[in-house]
Amino acid sequence: MKSALSLERDVPLQPLNTFGVSGQIDQLLRVQSFAGFDRPELYDFLRDPACLVLGGGSNLLFVQPPRRAVRIEHRYQSVEREEGRFVWLRVGGGCPWPELVEECTQRGWFGLENLALIPGTAGAAPIQNIGAYGVELVEVLEAVVVRERATGAEVRLPASACGLGYRSSRFKTEWRGRYLIESIVLRLSREPRVKLNYAALAQALPDGEMATPRDAFEAVCRIRRSKLPDPAEVGSAGSFFQNPLVPASTAEALRRDWPDLVAYPQPDGRVKLAAGWLIDRCGLRGLRRGDAGTWPAQALVVVNYGGATGAQIWQLAQEIQAAVAARFGVCLEPEVQVWH
Ligand code: FAD
Ligand code: NAP
Repeated sequence: MKSALSLERDVPLQPLNTFGVSGQIDQLLRVQSFAGFDRPELYDFLRDPACLVLGGGSNLLFVQPPRRAVRIEHRYQSVEREEGRFVWLRVGGGCPWPELVEECTQRGWFGLENLALIPGTAGAAPIQNIGAYGVELVEVLEAVVVRERATGAEVRLPASACGLGYRSSRFKTEWRGRYLIESIVLRLSREPRVKLNYAALAQALPDGEMATPRDAFEAVCRIRRSKLPDPAEVGSAGSFFQNPLVPASTAEALRRDWPDLVAYPQPDGRVKLAAGWLIDRCGLRGLRRGDAGTWPAQALVVVNYGGATGAQIWQLAQEIQAAVAARFGVCLEPEVQVWH
């Protein structure tokens, strides 16, 4: 049986982040099971505010490597409850998200299909309320089971307490660094309904009413493979910046100068601008500075063609921010966590 914790020293950073940035972590504690949670060495790590809790490293840019990190590798799935058409599934924080989505779709537990192929772990999914193709985690998340880093206390937080919003949550804002996410509880449905309100997905499934969740899953995988860099081949953390939410008056003013502005009104009255479009209109799609660049098929994806350092990638990101601010007066905020 695997031991619950394993400590490694001088660990190469490159395989632990999808940007493929090089470096070395002085001390890496791998958590393979929370049976070891009472062990003092884990507390020692978690109480250190400079210690990073790491999942798949797919939403992080390392300008500096962390000196200490705890990597969540605890994988399990267990059905908590079944009632009517719903299944409540508890999933260990270290479960790879893409495998989870595929398995649930195969088992006939639906709701995750549009979130296919998002890299990373189940434990990180609530941090930015992952979303894609018109679906967000909040639609299927029942609860988040956390350990408080300062005390080790286990708390089950209902999803409604976690402030899940557009690519955001309290874990990313006022609770930053406070909790380790041990597991999440999903409420999935046996009813084979698909959500096709996202134009690119609807176009890929023209017989919309006949489409099954499996069809939606496969269509999302096809679109993503055609448009996004494969992390196994080209380093990235997906979209580098968040799509900015601006007042409707700002969007209207921009549209006067830019009639083809890509903008989506939000229920709260604000307007979501497509950050990729803004970057593209600054002439920065396909830009390359050494081994750092923007992806030719989607300017929002900042990439590492091989040897870029975290600092070089961050410098390019700042250049993009400055160009968008100068042309549109819009401030792009990183979606990726930048670790200095
Ligand atoms: P990490 O990158 O390891 O960590 C991210 C943050 O979460 C860090 O602050 C870390 O400290 C914290 N964290 C991680 N695990 C835990 C835990 N168990 N407890 C407490 N804190 C934790 N995102 C989307 O929303 N939609 C997409 O469509 C999407 N597409 C992507 C495509 C590509 C090619 C790539 C590379 C990334 C994409 N992303 C997308 C971003 C990324 O996949 C998600 O944000 C993912 O949830 C990050 O998971 P991770 O395990 O890699 O987290
Ligand atoms: P896209 O289809 O080229 O669309 C550009 C932007 O327009 C997207 O960011 C999307 O916002 C928005 N959009 C498109 N249709 C919309 C609609 N009907 N209603 C509201 N907003 C709409 O985007 P893409 O780059 O190929 O990505 C496709 C999907 O995968 C998007 O949902 C995107 O968020 C997700 N994705 C995320 C990451 C990441 O790292 N976060 C990486 C790759 C892909 P939203 O982003 O809000 O959906």
